[in-house]
Amino acid sequence: MTLRDDAAALAPDLVALRRRLHQIPEIGLHLPRTQQAVLEALDGLPLEISVGDKLSSVTAVLRGGRPGGPVVLLRGDMDALPVTERTGEEFSSRHEGAMHACGHDLHTAGLVGAARLLSARAADLPGDVVFMFQPGEEGYDGARHMIDEGVLEAAGRPVDAAYGIHVTSSKTRAGVFTGRPGPLMAASAGLTVRVVGAGGHGSTPYRALDPVPVACEMVTALQAMVTRRFNVFDPVVVTVGRFHAGTRRNIIPEDAVFEATVRAFSTGTLERLSEYAVRLCQDIATAHGLRADAVFAGEYPVTVNDPDEHEFLAATVREVFGEERFEPMEHPMTGSEDFSRVLERVPGAFVFLGATVGDDPDNAPTNHSPLARFDDSVLPDGAALLAELAVRKLTTLAQSREGGRDRELVTPRQSSE
Ligand SMILES: [Zn+2]
Ligand SMILES: [Zn+2]
Repeated sequence: MTLRDDAAALAPDLVALRRRLHQIPEIGLHLPRTQQAVLEALDGLPLEISVGDKLSSVTAVLRGGRPGGPVVLLRGDMDALPVTERTGEEFSSRHEGAMHACGHDLHTAGLVGAARLLSARAADLPGDVVFMFQPGEEGYDGARHMIDEGVLEAAGRPVDAAYGIHVTSSKTRAGVFTGRPGPLMAASAGLTVRVVGAGGHGSTPYRALDPVPVACEMVTALQAMVTRRFNVFDPVVVTVGRFHAGTRRNIIPEDAVFEATVRAFSTGTLERLSEYAVRLCQDIATAHGLRADAVFAGEYPVTVNDPDEHEFLAATVREVFGEERFEPMEHPMTGSEDFSRVLERVPGAFVFLGATVGDDPDNAPTNHSPLARFDDSVLPDGAALLAELAVRKLTTLAQSREGGRDRELVTPRQSSE
């Protein structure tokens, strides 16, 4: 029986778990019910389980048959979004204002599936596997918290390679994996600007310092900055999503506040952007005799697939599921992801798995939409891929280490002859 066959046999359990999780979505770093469901689902498996201190994470270590061997990490995030579900699914969220609109319920169930598949083969594994059940992906930097609490050393040795999957409710047909080497998802940051002027009567603006036109000038100048100061082949996105000033049409307000989300695909570009954007806003304010308090706050780094690890992942998909099941991604995505924190420290790869319901991926509601639906028939293949990646990577790493040791043993002997 292949891993894929074994995974297919788990399908009813994985779908049931996913639907149970879907009904109890929890947001942020504290997901007590989700954590409980994961612990129950892992109960009885030969795993060393620990839970987070500052967040409701679950870290499970599977010991292979060879002590001291390589270590592979598999990750699934578990948190939901502050969205009220409108899909009409019979297993819809039972909590108004919370929904698994990004498919993390599938990630959690898929990782449980991988844990079950690999547990059944533990004795044959030439190393250990760390299962990273992570809260707080959606803006809470849960991955960083888990790294701070030691997930990358959970096996007692550093992790050698790491993999994760993200499902999508649109764009990609159900069951198709898609990814690319190098930058896969953007780095994100936030820019918050407060333009401080002096309030007054709307009829006598010369007796006030009006922050509104100055803030408006900043919003357009930021767009000019994006096109004039950054290489078009190293893209930057700046979107002002919030702008607030004033209370009534005939009152010049004391201040105007706006916030932008910022995306970039290289660390150097993000650093330059933080410097330019802040200075641009401050200098525009100064030019008009006002002041701007501009704060640039980094969020997630760029998600970068190690090219070799990406090739290994794509080749594994093609071999296990067929050529047509992997489609290279032409462009990176401007979304961001805190699995980037893991990939900054450990070589590995992240891949998207289409879970579109129906056969019109281009028009299906996107992740984060209250209408987003995910086809959970993809669950067994997601679980099988994670397990395959672990088995194959542990095997090649163990073999290359043994080869290295053999050479070390051979070389001195030869030199003494
Ligand atoms: Zn999301
Ligand atoms: Zn997500």
